[in-house]
Amino acid sequence: MNVLEKRRFDADPYLAELDAVVESCQPRPEGYAIVLDQTIFFPRGGGQNCDGGTVDGLEVLDCFAENDEILHILPRPLSPGQRVRLAICMENRMSHMQHHLAQHILSALLTRLYQNDTQSAHMEEGYGHIELPRTMTPDQLEALERAANDVVARDLPVHTAYYTPEEAARIPVRGRITPHASIRLVEIEGFDINACGGTHCRSTGGIGAIVLTGTKAVRGQFRIYFKAGQAALDEQARRTGLLLSAQQALGAETGDQLPLAAEETARRLREAEARLQALTERLDAADYDRLLASADRTGSQPCIARILECCEDTKHFKAIAEQLVKNEKAVVLLALTGGDRTALLLMRPKGQKTPDLGAALRTLTGRWDGKGGGSPVMAQGQIDLVSDALLDDIRQTFSDLSAQCRT
Ligand SMILES: [Zn+2]
Repeated sequence: MNVLEKRRFDADPYLAELDAVVESCQPRPEGYAIVLDQTIFFPRGGGQNCDGGTVDGLEVLDCFAENDEILHILPRPLSPGQRVRLAICMENRMSHMQHHLAQHILSALLTRLYQNDTQSAHMEEGYGHIELPRTMTPDQLEALERAANDVVARDLPVHTAYYTPEEAARIPVRGRITPHASIRLVEIEGFDINACGGTHCRSTGGIGAIVLTGTKAVRGQFRIYFKAGQAALDEQARRTGLLLSAQQALGAETGDQLPLAAEETARRLREAEARLQALTERLDAADYDRLLASADRTGSQPCIARILECCEDTKHFKAIAEQLVKNEKAVVLLALTGGDRTALLLMRPKGQKTPDLGAALRTLTGRWDGKGGGSPVMAQGQIDLVSDALLDDIRQTFSDLSAQCRT
């Protein structure tokens, strides 16, 4: 039996089980490499993974071609001459056949409709992708998916055969032909002829459905992701769920209303953000004025020492305190209480030598098991407590710091 006749998946990719004879068995680092007199296992290559399955109940760990032989890697050795039972995982094989044929259809349509020739294609478990030299718009991709599913619905027969390079040269084959002693051509009757060594459905109807699932820019190429067969149907059902969720969330009765509903939601969000911004600015100005009005001005610089019940607004008050220090050259000592914690913000203009706000804050938080720190001119901390004793201690600390600022 020559090497091509050994590849039983070429003529009948639907053959799930087969009896074969072990021709040789060699130990290798990854297991035992078995050569059989014939096989249904597709060796990985040409952008397709190898088949999963068993040889006499032993799991096939890998399967690839080397020196014109197909090697099946098994975890245990088998004896030459031994008769064995091969079984492939048909679910996987179906998925490979559907995705491979779907790729032929998509690539043929991409060339025909958009002059966008496939540069490479790859099949993973449950999806495939095609890389193209040019990008495509969502409208073009939708039209491509419709055209591809039309080819599926027409259930065109698929024929495969080997040719010599001279014979193949006379056939109108789409795409490049890698030089080989014999060329395997896959013909989708009346639609496309392409050189390919993979496994394919016996007609386009066997694909069931094709769905384009995404795009990506990769190394200057435009990649299209697709799913075929059961994976495509699962994707469609999942999309229905996603679409209906989005419709319900945005109040769109039909999918067609989604873009408008999304635009309306975005418009209302922009309006709300603008309103929030205006209100925040007014609140900032009001709090700024309120704190400045409460300043003790008996010293050389205004001193603001306040305990406020609004711990959750620490960020807001920190920004205001920074403005008061910058614009009014004020000393700002704030304790913000709320729930069961007290935030502390101490700030003063640069230039003076004392007081050291960081040291004062560490002394205060040290007494109350708090955390925080800072520099002589800016310190921030937190104590996980609100109590009269703590507030009295804070008042005393603020009073001492204010006195130091006045001198
Ligand atoms: Zn193919």
